[in-house]
Amino acid sequence: MAVIKKSLAEIEAMKEAGRISAKVLRMAGKHVEPGISTLELDNIVEKLIRLEGGIPAFKGYGGFPGSICASINEEIVHGIPSATKILKEGDIVSIDTGAIVDGWVGDNAWTYACGKISAEKQRLLDITEKCMWAAIDAARPGNRLGDVGAACQEIAEAAGFGVVREYVGHGIGRNMHEDPNVPNWGRKHTGLKLQAGMVLAIEPMINMGTEKTKQGADGWLVTTRDGMPSAHFEKTVAIMEDGPMVLTTEPMFRRPM
Ligand code: MG
Repeated sequence: MAVIKKSLAEIEAMKEAGRISAKVLRMAGKHVEPGISTLELDNIVEKLIRLEGGIPAFKGYGGFPGSICASINEEIVHGIPSATKILKEGDIVSIDTGAIVDGWVGDNAWTYACGKISAEKQRLLDITEKCMWAAIDAARPGNRLGDVGAACQEIAEAAGFGVVREYVGHGIGRNMHEDPNVPNWGRKHTGLKLQAGMVLAIEPMINMGTEKTKQGADGWLVTTRDGMPSAHFEKTVAIMEDGPMVLTTEPMFRRPM
C-alpha cells in the first residue's frame, strides 16, 4: 500500500478544493425540496463549482456522467443524476460531490431531508452523522485505521443499523481515490498506523436494515438489498500533528474537534 503523505503546504493547497466542495454541497442542500429532479441538482452544483473556479471532480471519473452522485432513500451511493428522478416529500437524498482546484481534489457528501421525513429516517441521519464525526475524531496520529472504523461501527451497531461493507472511504489528494481504503468498521488498535500528513475521505454509509447491498443495472447505482433507507455523510480530513482537520468546510463553519 502506497499512502501519499502531504506536506503542510500541500494540505494548505487542498483547502480551496475543500472549501468549494463544501460550499456547493451546502448550496445543493438548499435546493432539496419536493419536485426538484436530481439532474437539476446536478446542474446547479456543476455551475457553482465552475463559478467558484473549480472543476467538477466526479464528471467523467471512470465514465460517471454527473457532477454529483444523488442517492435517494434505499439508494446508498453512486446514483446518476436524472431528469426522471424527482424528489418528493419524505425522501432522504445523499448528495456526494467534489471539486478539483490546482490539481487537488475535495470530496464530501451529506444526506438531506426532503420536506418532512419520518422519525426513523431522522434517526438514521442523526446516527450516521454521529458516526462520521466519531470516525473523524479518531483520525489522529498514533491511532490506527481500525480505530477510525471501530468508532463508526460502534455507534451504528448500537443503534441497530447496518454498516455497508462493500464501499469504503479512501485516501485523497491529487487523485480522488488513493490508498489507504478507509473501512467504516474495524477493530481498535489494528491496521495501518495513522500519521500526520495523511488525508482521508471519511464516509460512513449506514443502512437502517441489512448491511447487504446490490448493484443497479446501470453499473453505478448501489442500493440496499432489503429496500430500507440508507444514509451517507462524508468529509475530506487531513491528519495533523494535533489531530484531524476537516478540509471540506467553509471557514465560517469551521468547528473545534
Ligand atoms: Mg469519497
